[in-house]
Amino acid sequence: MNQSNIRVRFAPSLTGPLHIGGVRTALYNYLFARKHGGKMIFRIEDTDSSRFVPGAEQYIIDSFKWLGVEFDEGVGIGGDYGPYRQSERRNIYKQYVEQLLQNGSAYLAFDTPDELNRKREEIPNFQYDATTRMQMRNSLTLPQAEVDELLARGEQYVVRFKIEPGQDVHVRDIIRGDVVINSSVLDDKVLYKSADQLPTYHLANIVDDHLMLVTHVIRGEEWLPSAPLHVLLYQAFGWQDTMPAFAHLPLLLKPDGKGKLSKRDGDKLGFPVFPLEWHDPQTGSISSGYRESGYLPEAVINFLALLGWNPGTEQELFTMQELIDLFDLSRCSKSGARFDYMKGWWFNREYLLQKTDLQLAPDFVELLANNGITTTPERAAQVIGMMKQKVVEYIDGQSNQVKKRSVSFIRDLWPLTDFFFIAPSVFDLNDKFIRKNWQENTAAEMTQLAEQLASVDNFTVEGMKAVIDSWVEQTGIRPWNAWRICLVGKGQGPDMYELAAFLGKEETLRRMTYAINTIG
Ligand code: GLU
Repeated sequence: MNQSNIRVRFAPSLTGPLHIGGVRTALYNYLFARKHGGKMIFRIEDTDSSRFVPGAEQYIIDSFKWLGVEFDEGVGIGGDYGPYRQSERRNIYKQYVEQLLQNGSAYLAFDTPDELNRKREEIPNFQYDATTRMQMRNSLTLPQAEVDELLARGEQYVVRFKIEPGQDVHVRDIIRGDVVINSSVLDDKVLYKSADQLPTYHLANIVDDHLMLVTHVIRGEEWLPSAPLHVLLYQAFGWQDTMPAFAHLPLLLKPDGKGKLSKRDGDKLGFPVFPLEWHDPQTGSISSGYRESGYLPEAVINFLALLGWNPGTEQELFTMQELIDLFDLSRCSKSGARFDYMKGWWFNREYLLQKTDLQLAPDFVELLANNGITTTPERAAQVIGMMKQKVVEYIDGQSNQVKKRSVSFIRDLWPLTDFFFIAPSVFDLNDKFIRKNWQENTAAEMTQLAEQLASVDNFTVEGMKAVIDSWVEQTGIRPWNAWRICLVGKGQGPDMYELAAFLGKEETLRRMTYAINTIG
């Protein structure tokens, strides 16, 4: 696609770690911008200093770096429309607040928190709006002289948006169509606070989208209720002709589809809701992240891309470039997207299997090291090759039962692979597999097998096969399960020839002698 004037933005607040829903929002903005040759802006909306969490900005930057989502302009990058941190744009907002006051779209309100509380007690479902504003202490009800005096005295005030009741406000949403809301249900939102001399989210957001020439506002459904107010703000500024198009993305739902996805669901069912591990600077608590849980970034991207959008085909695996080529906002769904975390496992498995064993080896070497085992990447890769198609047990968070799934993470390989590195030392004689496969004459048969193996010069799968297959044929002995007991200690593991070749002749024979002597 050629360069276009399409400009989108990802505009997080710094109220905590970026939630996985925010990652999806950024991804959709990115795909849309790339597809149309537009630009993606990274803006920080930090005007609510009371909710500021240190470290959140760097966390967001690190997250997108890991995921391969790139911004074109903004915090940490630069660009022609900066600064891109709202806390650095105070002076810009002042003049726009002034403009709304001048043209009668906004007014000053002096009501103290106490006064507001009293009103709330007095009037059920109190809302500061056209029906109540004339009972309040503001520049519409107070004589100008008194307003001037309050200001001169340095009394705190807020600037409220004066919403005209009884008009239909149209939000034109690419995903939802024409959403109409009557302005009578809206309240006179606070746009600015004298106390911290900062605008609220609504004002700063609109002013910045305008000044940064944003053409499309793509964001989560939770912002849809604010959109009518935003439309009215554009009108109040006289900017309706350059108002961005809206696209409110579907909510991410709990895995069972009932209600909005929350961090608690993740904690309970055992999946992360944050891209990276998050260390809360206030409480010190740690929340798990996709990266640290062993997900590949490509898998996370693919998984998120399909939570609320689909290309209308059966295809499920997409590279980033394919996603860019196929992405279409009008193919986003209106209804919520169920967060099927097990599908996330599936994606991760698919991407794991796309890598070579040697590419996966470093992570496995690290996992082994954490379990006290030192090995080379080459040896680790061999084990991965033998075991990546296996199944692993896990505890299902919903039922608390042990269930099985295909190996989907490198970490799944431990303890599936301990016996490659640690010889079995105790044999559980009550184990069904051992009871069934270790009979009276087994020790003698294993002694015979060991003798045969000792005669193999070329201790590879082929070398062993040439000798052992014919021995099996001649004697009619079926040595496989008992041999497995000797080398693995239980009824698990890969093909016996492959395992023996990995262990080498000496270790294979050592394990066999030990088992023969121990089980007898
Ligand atoms: N600062 C808002 C947030 O935290 C941005 C919402 C929007 O995109 O307009 O998500």
